[in-house]
Amino acid sequence: MSSPKIRLLVIPRGVLPGTAIILLLLAVILKVIPQAEPVSLYYGFPLRGVAVVIDPSHGGIDPGAHYEEVLEKEVCLSVGLELKRLLEQAGARVIMTRTADRDVSEHYPDDLESRYQRDMKGRLRIINESGADLFVSLHINSFPDPSVRGAIVFYRNNRPENPLLAEIIQRNINPVVNVNPRPGQLIHQKTKEGDYLLTNRAVIPGVIVEMAFITNPDDRALIRQESHRRRLAGAIFLGIVEHIYTLRREPPPSGEP
Ligand SMILES: [Zn+2]
Repeated sequence: MSSPKIRLLVIPRGVLPGTAIILLLLAVILKVIPQAEPVSLYYGFPLRGVAVVIDPSHGGIDPGAHYEEVLEKEVCLSVGLELKRLLEQAGARVIMTRTADRDVSEHYPDDLESRYQRDMKGRLRIINESGADLFVSLHINSFPDPSVRGAIVFYRNNRPENPLLAEIIQRNINPVVNVNPRPGQLIHQKTKEGDYLLTNRAVIPGVIVEMAFITNPDDRALIRQESHRRRLAGAIFLGIVEHIYTLRREPPPSGEP
């Protein structure tokens, strides 16, 4: 797979055109966009006409992974809300599977399955009824070995867009998670094929983004910081923008992979 050469500087709505031009010139002069070839700069609404589902995964009765007072559901919701803000600022329509700490099992009130299963199916229904271009499901990983850290973007290889989206988000998120590596640590920075209900049964392209390992002390310290959560959201946002523009330029072959 050839690596996309699009690099983006997104200047949000609300910035005055004069300031935007100065920022663009500075970006080029100072080469703040490394390896840009060609440099593609977008001002305004780079995602106008694009719809994205953000699934902050766990919520309500289901805390997801947790370690001491750090809860997966809390981190994912705050990254998800920041990602929503960035996407909407760029002109996208955003559908959230939840915007508060609650479950969405009410979509299946008469189902005999557990509330956890009904919540998962509720999120899948929101994704599948959204008519969106893609979805991202946000998670925090855990692992018995505390030296393991980093991010893994999981995808199901059942449509050509999925590995492309996974690669682009992974590439954008890697510099954010690769912070102060210590000897002996394994920092995950590669995509993986995954077997999950959401990616298996979604009718639109999408990926699962495991943004950190809650079981690693360094990752845990990072995800407690508001600034790190904003950087994670920013990386996923840039990955989505880059993916959309790459597809517009080089649509993947349609049909079965
Ligand atoms: Zn999770």
